[in-house]
Amino acid sequence: MTATLRVCALYPELMNIYADRGNIAVLRARCEWRGLGFELGAATIGEPLDEAAYDLFYMGGGQDRDQAAVAHDMADGKTEPLHAAADRGAVVLAVCGGYQLLGHAYEMDGEELPGVGLVDLRTVREEGPRLIGNCAIEADLGTGPRVIAGFENHGGRTYLGAGEQPLGRVLKGHGNNGRDGAEGVRRGNVIGTYLHGPLLPKNIWLADRLIELALGVELSPLDDRLEDAAHASARRAAGV
Ligand code: GLN
Repeated sequence: MTATLRVCALYPELMNIYADRGNIAVLRARCEWRGLGFELGAATIGEPLDEAAYDLFYMGGGQDRDQAAVAHDMADGKTEPLHAAADRGAVVLAVCGGYQLLGHAYEMDGEELPGVGLVDLRTVREEGPRLIGNCAIEADLGTGPRVIAGFENHGGRTYLGAGEQPLGRVLKGHGNNGRDGAEGVRRGNVIGTYLHGPLLPKNIWLADRLIELALGVELSPLDDRLEDAAHASARRAAGV
């Protein structure tokens, strides 16, 4: 039987800043080009989340205003299914605004938005400029250290709890908070990052690795000359 990657887009119409939905297009293409199945579902405000129906959950970035609506909706019924999914090893990939909501809370303007608590982190909207620019990190998702390159633009600063590992270490850019050299978070198959780009078109190795982790398969290589050029260009833009 051919494996099928079943992806759930969380709040796709609200959490899609910088064309983050391009990440889903890449997951689809990488599966279909190899003859793997691909199914896309969604769960947005007020909709139930059938966690057993998916292998990978995806949430993109968003404006503070939209994050507030999303945070309250997640607290209202999506937190438990997301924990169940993470506990059985499903992949959860969250970018920027989505990443901020993976932790305990996002504090901004005297308000504290609840997070789903899949990882031990807090995000705070502090005084100071937004952290903006091309960014590159070094990350190891079990296949040796590789570069992830992208673009970040966030007002929130994220601080990981003592037992939590970042996704990677900053080579260029600001990362989680502009101070500690950490970028993103990874606990098992739960991954958060500030990197837009969108992320996966610029880092095709990461897209493939996420598919492997979600399906428990090893993927065959594709002709990636164009994708490799996009990655090289994103690295050059970040200066690494
Ligand atoms: N609104 C959040 C912040 O500014 C996230 C922004 C984003 O997703 N790019 O920190």
